Amino acid sequence: MTSPLIHLKNVSKVFLTDDMETHALSNISFDIHEGEFVCIAGPSGCGKSTLLSILGLLDTPSHGTYLLNGRAMTGLSKAERTRVRGSQIGFVFQSFNLIMEMSVRENVELPLHYANVPAAERQTRVNEVLEAVGMAHRAKHFPNQLSGGQQQRVAVARALVSRPSIFLADEPTGNLDSAHGEAVMELLQRLHRDGSTICMVSHDPRFTELGDRVVRLHDGRMFDVETPVLQAI
Ligand code: ADP
Ligand code: MG
Repeated sequence: MTSPLIHLKNVSKVFLTDDMETHALSNISFDIHEGEFVCIAGPSGCGKSTLLSILGLLDTPSHGTYLLNGRAMTGLSKAERTRVRGSQIGFVFQSFNLIMEMSVRENVELPLHYANVPAAERQTRVNEVLEAVGMAHRAKHFPNQLSGGQQQRVAVARALVSRPSIFLADEPTGNLDSAHGEAVMELLQRLHRDGSTICMVSHDPRFTELGDRVVRLHDGRMFDVETPVLQAI
């Protein structure tokens, strides 16, 4: 088997607040291979967002190893993490996080500005991803002129425009009614069929079943549904 795109080994995360220690993740070891669609499931507070933030280089583990494309992510400076995140990670949040003062096109183009992509190529790539998510006809609209489902499709386009190695989505359907949620899931499935590697957090069983593999978190520990053993007790 080829080496994994993502390799986590004994990753733990402890939050210190006042006198309290919260063990958000305990000894998580798991791999994601290129082209996989992995779903992370589990009840509220079990550590799903913490895990995705670590995978997306928005946060760092307290202990353990994280390799992305074979390269150690633990020990990188903040600036290096930001650079790797910009080029290799596409992140979508439950609350879309679009910039309200910018049009759809400007929102999607923003990561390419940060990456100093020339203007002509920016236009081509923005058109491509807006087409891919079915939002090309709304390029000049502003986020508040769109439904939640449309806003999330724009957020997906923004995450894809940098051509990331992995696409991370934290409850992407959490703020959507069921029809819009299904449309966003169909979009993710299509991206997966076209070769994207996806890791999605959801606690909706209708949606987690659509991945290749479901891993479950409970109190910061991971169960793999295919091999349901509790790791590292
Ligand atoms: P989920 O996404 O599964 O609902 P989270 O990853 O957000 O869970 O949280 C896991 C645990 O870590 C919770 O107990 C939460 O309160 C705690 N936690 C998350 N982020 C922080 C933080 N920045 N500071 C302190 N505790 C946190
Ligand atoms: Mg969460």
